[in-house]
Amino acid sequence: MLKEKLLNLLFPPKCVLCSRVLSDEQTDLCHSCRQDTDEFTKSKKKFSFVAGWTSLWYYTGNVRHSMLLYKFYRRRSYGPIYGRLLAMKLHAKPLCSYDVLTWVPVSRFRLMQRGYDQVELIAHSLGQELGTPAIPVLTKQRHTKPQSRLNTPERRRANILGAFRVNDITSIQGKTVLLIDDIITTGSTISECARVLLTAGAKAVYCAAVAVPHDKKEKRR
Ligand SMILES: [Zn+2]
Repeated sequence: MLKEKLLNLLFPPKCVLCSRVLSDEQTDLCHSCRQDTDEFTKSKKKFSFVAGWTSLWYYTGNVRHSMLLYKFYRRRSYGPIYGRLLAMKLHAKPLCSYDVLTWVPVSRFRLMQRGYDQVELIAHSLGQELGTPAIPVLTKQRHTKPQSRLNTPERRRANILGAFRVNDITSIQGKTVLLIDDIITTGSTISECARVLLTAGAKAVYCAAVAVPHDKKEKRR
């Protein structure tokens, strides 16, 4: 307890979205981020091979800023917080019942470059909260260009096709898989993961992400 207090004095817990120091009664998010952040509600997007999906937030404003820090500026501690918040959302609004919890892995190149698999950290924390440990079902067997830099669906599909393989087919055969991702940019990555999982014998694949961009039409409003 004393150690915890000392650590809090040295490294006061901060809001994961705006970095404001949190008061004693706040956890993970400050009051204004909890009130004002663009929480995901619905989308018309459908992704091939994915039975259903959800997200915690929309990828805008503070969420976008926070996730860029997490991915590119080594804010490793954000991962478990995103996972915990996504778990709360899934607990409040269950997406599906599932047998296996896993995540969209990064390539070995990206892992070495970043030092951590950002989606794995989210999935492990989420699994702990929901009582189902996340297991490594997929391996990304080659490095690919970021999907967001490719401008047509065909290019994105070609970029990611065959990039993932299932580690152990028996772990998912006949099972419903909940796949965790950080950001669903265009959906081509989760579609490819779901295709590979279904080909290997999974019964159904659902996906939950931390953030997703607004549907284009909503954005213009
Ligand atoms: Zn905040």
